[in-house]
Amino acid sequence: MNFEKIAKNYCEKSSLYEKSIHSENGCTAFMVDCGDEDFLVATAGFGFVGEEFQSEEGAFIACRLTHDNAVVLRKLFPFTAPVPVLRKERSIGVGDRLGIATPGHIRVFEKYDAYPVLAQQSIRELNLTNRTFHDVLDSASFSVFREDFTRGFGADGDHLKKAEELQYALDCGYTMITLDCSEHIHNEVMKMTEDEIRANYVGNPELEKKYMNQTVSVDGVEIAFDEISFKRNCLIYNEAIDFAVGIYHQFFDGRDDLDFEMSIDETETPTTPAQHYYIANELISRGVKVVTIAPRFVGEFQKGIDYIGDLSKFKREFEAHAKIARHFGYKISVHSGSDKFSVFETVGKYTGGNFHLKTAGTNWLEAMAVIAEHDPALYREVHQYALDGAFEQATAYYHVTTDLSKIPALDTLTDAELPALFQNNDSRQLIHITYGLILNEKNADGAFRFKDRLYADWRKYAKEYEARVDRHISRHLDLLYRGFRP
Ligand SMILES: [Zn+2]
Repeated sequence: MNFEKIAKNYCEKSSLYEKSIHSENGCTAFMVDCGDEDFLVATAGFGFVGEEFQSEEGAFIACRLTHDNAVVLRKLFPFTAPVPVLRKERSIGVGDRLGIATPGHIRVFEKYDAYPVLAQQSIRELNLTNRTFHDVLDSASFSVFREDFTRGFGADGDHLKKAEELQYALDCGYTMITLDCSEHIHNEVMKMTEDEIRANYVGNPELEKKYMNQTVSVDGVEIAFDEISFKRNCLIYNEAIDFAVGIYHQFFDGRDDLDFEMSIDETETPTTPAQHYYIANELISRGVKVVTIAPRFVGEFQKGIDYIGDLSKFKREFEAHAKIARHFGYKISVHSGSDKFSVFETVGKYTGGNFHLKTAGTNWLEAMAVIAEHDPALYREVHQYALDGAFEQATAYYHVTTDLSKIPALDTLTDAELPALFQNNDSRQLIHITYGLILNEKNADGAFRFKDRLYADWRKYAKEYEARVDRHISRHLDLLYRGFRP
């Protein structure tokens, strides 16, 4: 079949995505670039909705990349549907806030054997980007089809906090849930005196017998609970454990097609190995099949920049966390994993290559670096907008220690110097956390101030973007793999 020719019957200027040609049960389908938009072209009569046209090879239908067509695609070509990948030896959440990063991500996973979670979004990210769980998954499905990525990928309803949110993600076909228990973790207990802890603790003979004044050894890691540390753990974590157990039994019992991650990383203080042990032991003894736990590690895992903190301390504690996870038979999950280049080798090493790493948002920074390189005038406008108040607003929901005074003034930089702003941590964070405001900002006439121009550029420079995402994320995997495959 001459696919190029078939596509030209529909759209004269179309060009074929070479890897997208697939045939299954009599349906042949492929994707084409028609300039402003990509289309799926498929044999007519298989349920796709679009415009029918004739070619020498028969009747075809040209379809827009809508949700209804994504549903049909996932049925006819099952490799475009998400699967549980968290239980694989190593998995990496890459997410795609803009719906354009997956081809670049696929380039990475063609080189490394880890399983990707290509659809990964939190409710906060959905709101800030005006997207839906459907939309996030659909764009991943079309991309794996276009790029012929058949290994399998996951879809993560990330940092979900409420039963309704889980229901929403699962109804959309997500295969993984990251349960965020932060609203049930009592951080304030960390500041209590011993007397206050004793006064607030409610007796629980069963737990006392199990933990209080007990010491366990996990693969050489001594885990001890004296009276105060035990009671403190109860006060900080018992409500979160009850919550997680309840959610688990509501949604995950008997569901082998779903992965459950417990995240306790959004807290003010690091999770100690003993606290990690306590939480895991309680969850598992109450029937929860945890696939991953995301502790809060020592040091700072800020968005879009390298690890901040004492590396030797991180190594020591990470080794203990990894041993605890191995003891119970689940994987450690490392969150906010974008750009943490100085810890990746440690993560690879102490987990023996058995980990989940979650990156997010760094693909947005790469997309903005493309703008800085190819459309400097637009970049300058966006950058100035971020400085003029958007950053200030975004710090309400992102914890960063950015020093705006360390960002060189725009009018001192030539156009050619703009991309180098993405090597400046303060500048990275300025752009990193303001994505929602930048994308949603509107002119007086109600039109988007930046969004449409940004997307037009990203389409025009799609190959450059793909190469950037590939290079950036590959650097993460290269270091991780060095840890267990030296
Ligand atoms: Zn997290």
